[in-house]
Amino acid sequence: MALKPPRVGVFGGAFDPPHDAHVSLVKAALAQLGLARLHILPTGDAWHKARGLSAGHHRLEMARLAFEGLPGAVVDDRELRRAGPTYTLDTLRELRGEQPAAELVLILGADQASSLPRWHGWQDILAMAVVAVAQRPGAGAFDPLALPGAPPGARFETLAITPMDVSATEIRAKAALGQDLSRLVPPAVARYIDQHHLYRTT
Ligand code: ATP
Repeated sequence: MALKPPRVGVFGGAFDPPHDAHVSLVKAALAQLGLARLHILPTGDAWHKARGLSAGHHRLEMARLAFEGLPGAVVDDRELRRAGPTYTLDTLRELRGEQPAAELVLILGADQASSLPRWHGWQDILAMAVVAVAQRPGAGAFDPLALPGAPPGARFETLAITPMDVSATEIRAKAALGQDLSRLVPPAVARYIDQHHLYRTT
């Protein structure tokens, strides 16, 4: 009987900062998707984000604080080390090269899943990886059939999470005003933001 290939999860984000919805997504992915490992990748010079990001070393450290205690989660800094724009497709190709037998599972919130056709090499991404989608308040339901041009055989799964209306944008705005973040980010991340005066304008 053929063994099933190990499944390896891939979850990228600016993580500026990582917040409770990201943590909930990662926990759900580890619990539901049968992953051998989940790579969590802070983006480098993300091409789809108009605003400048906080320094990579801060985002990496906050990602470590948020996710590294979760068994199976690996914070992977390869996109931060890459020169130039970072593309998920390149990351998937690297992981495929390192783990040829693995089935790659790309984890996305519904907002990002619906914008896949704007991603560099999105059809190649869909040919290489299963996409697991979590709903996100305000994003509408994700409908794979609304992705004309997706390659035949593209595979989508649903990641069940309790919807959380949280965004890093909202958290940066609250931090700029010196407001309490304890209900929005893990305690260690809140302390890090405070200690390093991140997102403060004064
Ligand atoms: P920003 O507000 O700066 O755009 P963000 O909160 O969307 O940031 P990202 O780091 O850009 O956070 O998101 C990384 C991944 O997490 C994306 O796939 C995104 O869809 C998903 N995600 C972020 N917040 C949520 C949420 N509240 N519910 C479900 N998915 C989410």
